[in-house]
Amino acid sequence: MDGTVIIPYRSFIFVFMDKNLRYPLITGKSRIAGKGAFAGQPIAARKKLGNMGGEIISYKEAQKRVKKQPGNVLFMVEFDNEDIALDASINSNALRYINHSCDPNTYMRRAYRKVEFYTLRPVRKGEELTCDYGETHHDGKLPCRCGAGNCRGFI
Ligand SMILES: [Zn+2]
Repeated sequence: MDGTVIIPYRSFIFVFMDKNLRYPLITGKSRIAGKGAFAGQPIAARKKLGNMGGEIISYKEAQKRVKKQPGNVLFMVEFDNEDIALDASINSNALRYINHSCDPNTYMRRAYRKVEFYTLRPVRKGEELTCDYGETHHDGKLPCRCGAGNCRGFI
């Protein structure tokens, strides 16, 4: 895979290269919240989709920036073992539009200053990509609209 991204927009098709993506992803209106990321082709289980683009910043700086970011969107990813975060609102790619679901089809791995996404199961072309945010800066106070049968109710 060369990381080509095809985004259909009305009758136009924009194609651009993103070195961080291994599969074509499409962004569009989500059935969960705001904008979502969708598979541009069928993708098998346990495949790396790519790295979330963004800027690595200190945890302190991240706390400042989070206050300015919209709710229910994962634009800031914290790391467990380091006082750093990835601000995905800058220099990012379609992976930042992966919404939370309590029954996700992708997994987010945070390691070595990278945020990687992997499929958990086979994904159909056009299927919305979701991941379990786990503990986020919303602290479980944001109502979850994922619609999964096992929805926990809050993010
Ligand atoms: Zn849910």
